Amino acid sequence: MDPSLGTLEKPGDEDGKAEGAGSPERGPAPWQALPVLSERQSGDVELVLAYAAPILDQRQTSRLLKEVAAVHPLPAQPHLKRVRPSRDASCPHTLEILLCLAGPAAGARSLADLLPQPAVDPCGLGPPFLVPVPAWPPLTRRQFEKARAHWPTSFHEDRQVARALAGCLFSAQERAAMQGYMERALWAARQAAARGLRAMGAVVVDPAAGHVLAMGHDCSSSASPLLHATMVCIDLVAQGQGRGAYNLRRHPACSFAPATTPQAARAGSVRKLDADADTGVDGLPYVCTGYDLYITREPCTMCAMALVHSRVQRVFYGAPSPDGALGTRFRVHARPDLNHRFQVFHGVLEAQCRQLDPCA
Ligand SMILES: [Zn+2]
Repeated sequence: MDPSLGTLEKPGDEDGKAEGAGSPERGPAPWQALPVLSERQSGDVELVLAYAAPILDQRQTSRLLKEVAAVHPLPAQPHLKRVRPSRDASCPHTLEILLCLAGPAAGARSLADLLPQPAVDPCGLGPPFLVPVPAWPPLTRRQFEKARAHWPTSFHEDRQVARALAGCLFSAQERAAMQGYMERALWAARQAAARGLRAMGAVVVDPAAGHVLAMGHDCSSSASPLLHATMVCIDLVAQGQGRGAYNLRRHPACSFAPATTPQAARAGSVRKLDADADTGVDGLPYVCTGYDLYITREPCTMCAMALVHSRVQRVFYGAPSPDGALGTRFRVHARPDLNHRFQVFHGVLEAQCRQLDPCA
């Protein structure tokens, strides 16, 4: 093994100062690390059709509620409130009750069709009508605002997600560390550009130890077109674990530090978002279990899936890529049908990263 590969080079001071090129008096550019949410979290509220009916005799409301809920409990829609005030001020009735979800062939139905008797005494109800209601509990405040425009909806805000969306998830100390890691990725990207390679850089960090384990840049060429910065970094982490496959000796800015924590000890200490298995078939953690990746631009599909396979814990990228797979075209980090999910944040030093090459 080339001994020069065992040491991580640090970005020089001059490079650090060059950060504010163009306006030397300027402080650090403002940036926010914002979460890239799952499709369910970020998408629009999905609606399903349901039957509701006006409550013509309000004195019957509590009895009707009890009887209808016993017949149609709506176990998958606990977020839907059963009664809403009528929306039409000129309407003779003031309350409406949600009866049940409509099937695929939703058409006009009578109370007798929808409510079995004698379990429900329909006395006090008017004729049923179809209404779109939110199919799933809203996950974000934005979804909640949209959902309740259709039907009254309860909302248990995920405080962590709410803080993340407000851009205040990280402390000043954490932000300083994040900026330092991204500055290293920027440095690596500039090293690549200086060598005529695509300007994309990345670092892998062990957040528990605060160590940079690998720093790399895009090394792709006509002979090795797949050496994107992410692939290079994953291989460098593997090299630090006594494995790895690429020969990167021609690229001195691509370097690794040997793992400081033994592999076997690492598996138990991982902070997980989901109850994923974090060990491979041999009982060892995957290459990036518990680690964070900082990368100048959003990874492409190949790189993003490589991060799923290597079980990265979190990814921070500066700016999106047109074909990016962690937010732009796909969100492979947040798919229920893949066996590993991880957190993704975008926007760290976005202005500087945006000037560099995308992952493609
Ligand atoms: Zn890529």
